[in-house]
Amino acid sequence: MAIPFSQKLKVGAYVVRQHLAGRKRYPLVLMLEPLFRCNLACAGCGKIDYPDEILNQRLSVADALAAVDECGAPVVSIAGGEPLLHRELPEIVKGIIARRKFVYLCTNALLMEKKLDHYRPDRYFVWSVHLDGDKDMHDRSVCQTGVYDRAVAAIKAAKSRGFRVNINCTLFNNADAESVAKFFDTAKDLGIDGITVSPGYAYERAPDQQHFLNREKTKQLFRDILRRGRGGRDWSFSQSSLFLDFLAGNQSYHCTPWGNPTRTVFGWQRPCYLLGESYAPTFRALMEETDWDSYGTGNYEKCADCMVHSGYEATAVADAVASPLKALATSLRGVRTEGPMAPEISLSHQRPAEFVFSRHVALKQAEIRESQARAKQAASAR
Ligand code: SF4
Repeated sequence: MAIPFSQKLKVGAYVVRQHLAGRKRYPLVLMLEPLFRCNLACAGCGKIDYPDEILNQRLSVADALAAVDECGAPVVSIAGGEPLLHRELPEIVKGIIARRKFVYLCTNALLMEKKLDHYRPDRYFVWSVHLDGDKDMHDRSVCQTGVYDRAVAAIKAAKSRGFRVNINCTLFNNADAESVAKFFDTAKDLGIDGITVSPGYAYERAPDQQHFLNREKTKQLFRDILRRGRGGRDWSFSQSSLFLDFLAGNQSYHCTPWGNPTRTVFGWQRPCYLLGESYAPTFRALMEETDWDSYGTGNYEKCADCMVHSGYEATAVADAVASPLKALATSLRGVRTEGPMAPEISLSHQRPAEFVFSRHVALKQAEIRESQARAKQAASAR
């Protein structure tokens, strides 16, 4: 089972508590990015295009755990950058597990085998290995040969030690449904506990802008993949059946960006894991002071093609709570892969994109230099 029953129960109880308390907005998964530095440079990545000064920044253990406490989400996904480059990551993971939160440690797995000893199997801990397909697909996606083989070796080593291991798979417009379906079969043979799959988000800073999927192509691709696996029932997804149903064009969902709030070295990122339009100093400020209606498909040009799990999984979960029978039917019968698709959101009133990246980088660099100057002054005064 991709998500153990005890985890489903704990997260489900949290969601029901939020609904009973009448909370309109609540976090489901904290996206914790303790650094942006990576040991790969993938063509579709929009997360690592920063000057060294920023790539060298790390969230401290105290800041990372304070973010976990401030946010309160029952699940923490540690992303980046490559989190295993953070020297204090084992301490951060340990602290999150001690708080009885479920940790998904996302990694490209290049350092995973070497670092396995720093972690212990635990029902609150899951490795989430980045694999965008079979050997050819994945090595092309990460722009380096041999990465697939190293990831598979690390997965086998982790499984043999009793860890839970998921894969996270991002698909682009060069994905072929038959190959992806075969790759999911391979993942099953490897003993992978769960698959997280999503179309890539068209990051404005990604080097390759040619291969992002638009919504129409995403829906058709997912129908073509899921049809080859009995509507998805052949594979163990670490995602809700209604999110997969949305990917296959059967649900007209609006995103829930606050469902996966994101803490980076810049602060609390607005509005979501994918877009850094501005930063809030605290989680509370993020939730209370963000103009949420100015984001999402139909509202903002940068959101037009987004169907990513970090924006829509929380919508699917809320829908499952509101319509449990629909969710149950989808999971028992599988995702519908034929017939008309749900209506698409109109883009006619979306506001134009704002390009703010350089301003945020300049502000962060000024902040880093100021704090370095203060530290130098304090050292020379001693
Ligand atoms: S649609 Fe939602 S999740 Fe996607 S980029 Fe826009 S705000 Fe973020």
